Amino acid sequence: MESVIVIGAGLAGSEAAWQLARRGIPVELREMKPQKMTPAHHTEYFGELVCSNSLRSDQMENAVGLLKEELRRCSSLIMSCADEHRVEAGGALAVDRHAFAQAITERIKSHPNITVVEGEVTEIPEAGNVILASGPLTSEALSEAISRLFPGSRYLNFFDAAAPLVTFESVDMDSAWFASRYDRGTPDYINCPLTEEEYDVFWRELIHAQEAEVHGFEDAGVFEGCMPVEVMARRGRDTLCYGPLKPVGLKDPKTGKEPFAVVQLRKDNAQGTIYNIVGFQTHLKWGEQKRVFSMIPALKNAEYVRYGVMHRNTFLDSPRLLDRYYRVRGQERLMFAGQITGVEGYVESTASGALAAIELARRLEGKEPVNFPRETAIGALALYISDQSVVNFQPMNINFGLIPQLGYRVKGKRNKNAEISKRALEALGKLDLEP
Ligand SMILES: Cc1cc2nc3c(=O)[nH]c(=O)nc-3n(C[C@H](O)[C@H](O)[C@H](O)COP(=O)(O)OP(=O)(O)OC[C@H]3O[C@@H](n4cnc5c(N)ncnc54)[C@H](O)[C@@H]3O)c2cc1C
Repeated sequence: MESVIVIGAGLAGSEAAWQLARRGIPVELREMKPQKMTPAHHTEYFGELVCSNSLRSDQMENAVGLLKEELRRCSSLIMSCADEHRVEAGGALAVDRHAFAQAITERIKSHPNITVVEGEVTEIPEAGNVILASGPLTSEALSEAISRLFPGSRYLNFFDAAAPLVTFESVDMDSAWFASRYDRGTPDYINCPLTEEEYDVFWRELIHAQEAEVHGFEDAGVFEGCMPVEVMARRGRDTLCYGPLKPVGLKDPKTGKEPFAVVQLRKDNAQGTIYNIVGFQTHLKWGEQKRVFSMIPALKNAEYVRYGVMHRNTFLDSPRLLDRYYRVRGQERLMFAGQITGVEGYVESTASGALAAIELARRLEGKEPVNFPRETAIGALALYISDQSVVNFQPMNINFGLIPQLGYRVKGKRNKNAEISKRALEALGKLDLEP
């Protein structure tokens, strides 16, 4: 059987390699880590999460919950490792990032059909089937090679920021408490309250704090879903209180009331020794992060194991370049997967890797492609990415707006979404997905 080269062992590349290998196709997986690291990757492991440890909602009334379930039903490697290494996070699927990435690496490296080749890829292989999954921080040389592939087209980009991590022992638990919003489920978050006076001081310092130099960055180029906390704060005094500092459903046991604002911390590893500050992606200078965030009473002595950082995130103008299987139009031996295609997010990147690999495997087996229909989240995302009528293409999270409506009335948004998810899983069940 002809082998496939997969470039990049991130979420998309690892998933793609796995899907091919489990269908008996030999894979050469080329990864530059640990020889060369992107500015956001820090470990030798595959499937490394560069920012939050949350894969977002795991509920079927939420489109990303549906996307996860569809991936599980496609025997996704990433989902299986995420489920194995989950840490409690209310209705979300959060993972112990190290154990998760380690598990992916072990399963990839021990698969008999996968050969891992270490080192930076600087040119696109001239022959054979290739899946390019080198991510939003593709190395410069490969990035240039990709540009040469699409003369006249340009890379698009935006900026993506990561949130800081702090140690549990440095959080002042006398000024914080464990709870989930509305006390639903288990008390998974540490809640750090602020009074109105404390919030005003914090907010004023935050909007005037010094930012780190990021070449070419302006507020306009930030993705709404991952906006730095200081950029959001500059939109108005109350904006954060409707966003990451929303106190609704969080009653402080000391007062029995909802505080003016609440900063939430989510467990980042299974031992619960590290927490991340939810929604605090930032590009403030490191000293400024420590100074300003210490105005949150529970974080006054916080010890940072990683500060927030910001990076330029590049992606292709996919509607003009790729088809519904993430293949390059007119050069079908080349496929792209992951964030570089303009899908946005960990789970979305994984989904594109799965679809690209399933299609390629079918082609190599001489079978008809599996057409994931628009009713499924995996299909809807791919159809959006390759929709030539989309003019001003921007990174896209999965959402129910991409999936056709039901055509009949269902009362209540949650019920309606649950019904759309049910229909999606039925449609997925009709596809021939098994090797
Ligand atoms: C700073 C930042 C923060 C983000 N935060 C979040 C978040 O909180 N939540 C979320 O859902 N999404 C987030 N994203 C978006 C996105 O989900 C992640 O970037 C995700 O990791 C993308 O998966 P991927 O497989 O496409 O790329 P990656 O996971 O980045 O994998 C690409 C792999 O390719 C390798 N590589 C690169 N160039 C080469 C080369 N030339 N040769 C060989 N190997 C190469 C890299 O080392 C890497 O291992 C963030 C992105 C950035 C940049």
